[in-house]
Amino acid sequence: MKQLALIALSLLHLASAQSRKYTLLITNANVVDVAAGKIIPHQLLAISNDTVKAVDDTKFAAKYKAEKQYDAHGQYVMPGLWDMHIHLRGGDSTIEANKALLPLFLAYGVTTVRECGGDITPSVLEWRKQTASGELAGPRIFTAGPKLDGPHAVWAGSIPVVTPADVTAALDSLQKIHVDFVKIYDSKISGDAYLEIIRQAKQRGMKVTGHMPYTVELKDAASLGMDGSEHLYYIFKACSSKEDSLTQLIREREHSDRPIGLFGALPALYNTFDSAKADRLFQFLAAKHFSITPTLYISKTLAGIKTTDHTQDSLAKYIDPKIIATYAGRVRSARRQSDEGTKFTEKYEALVMSLVPKMYKAGVNIVAGSDCGSSNSYVYPGESIHGEIKLLVSAGLTPAQALQTSVINGSKFFGVQSQFGSLKPGKCSDLIVLEHNPLENIAAIDQLNAVLSHGKLYSRTDLDALLASIRH
Ligand SMILES: [Zn+2]
Repeated sequence: MKQLALIALSLLHLASAQSRKYTLLITNANVVDVAAGKIIPHQLLAISNDTVKAVDDTKFAAKYKAEKQYDAHGQYVMPGLWDMHIHLRGGDSTIEANKALLPLFLAYGVTTVRECGGDITPSVLEWRKQTASGELAGPRIFTAGPKLDGPHAVWAGSIPVVTPADVTAALDSLQKIHVDFVKIYDSKISGDAYLEIIRQAKQRGMKVTGHMPYTVELKDAASLGMDGSEHLYYIFKACSSKEDSLTQLIREREHSDRPIGLFGALPALYNTFDSAKADRLFQFLAAKHFSITPTLYISKTLAGIKTTDHTQDSLAKYIDPKIIATYAGRVRSARRQSDEGTKFTEKYEALVMSLVPKMYKAGVNIVAGSDCGSSNSYVYPGESIHGEIKLLVSAGLTPAQALQTSVINGSKFFGVQSQFGSLKPGKCSDLIVLEHNPLENIAAIDQLNAVLSHGKLYSRTDLDALLASIRH
């Protein structure tokens, strides 16, 4: 009797699976298993809305019914790219210009972005909602809202904090608007306020990342539970054998007429770089589940401004002139740099790039971020994260490892890795379809045939139409 009931139940199950209609069926796909670094051929993906419902061999395709079908024969399907460091900013007059950047991300296969602080937060929060509901074509948005910094901060819109009470009020205001993480900047913030932000944010269970004042030591921030560090300057400082005495000197001079800034300290840090200390640091950070966003692409782009002709950049036509106008600031400061300074930057960049594979090997959560956005000259949305991933390969990661930093490690930062990072049943179906195998040659990420974002499939023709819609 029990057995009969079981048979009846499984027949019922089979019937419901057969009659069930998925929104999209992708067949004949070479699925890229980014975590394992291998290709699984002949795959079928049954998708409903924005969730992968079933994965099967394409030979069983007759079992699956769907409203739409995409034959991925000969093509490579992998989770959508994440850009973990972007900015939507530039003041209220640039709101529409920033909004028009969202389709550009999609057109380059970026299905999720982490917005690292700006001055048009109400709009970003609105776009976060609208992209999630499918009302607006664009990536999923995680946002920090306004940055936290000291008084008279460099970036507009930053919340100034000095005392513990300021920190409490600032975090209250961020929680009220449901930001996804806290971003700290270091233009004017004191070391005490900085550590206090981390302390209070962790008590509230908020994720914290950012820059770091050189008056603070990275190990103190990481010990308090800081979740990540943006750019490599702060990591690099902690690799110096003279970190203690240099930090002491920077603190002593902080309020003097000869303060030592970040760039002023770099040559001394370079000369005292300690490889064994770096190895110990990476092991410590890995144990803390710490994330590092190297942002190699923007460093390279800014370092090359003096010698690169950007007048013919093919992406510039998709960027609003109001945003292009903000690029002038960095061009001016790059022109002011001496030849000696340029030479040092090259040396420094080469050294920090060589640290990336060591971090990876130690188990640090490296996340790919471009730092694109207004004021960050010639770092175009979409294209720049492709550039970052390729540079991570140049730095010594395998193509699979570099792809992990974009499609898996971002979700680890937010603790949502059970929903992202692979195309397994139950996971998010944001994906990209590539013409060539990215595990063989990372440049394959440039040849996109389709993007699935929030359950909506964009063919190459659709992506070109998106681009045409934002062309100036
Ligand atoms: Zn940034």
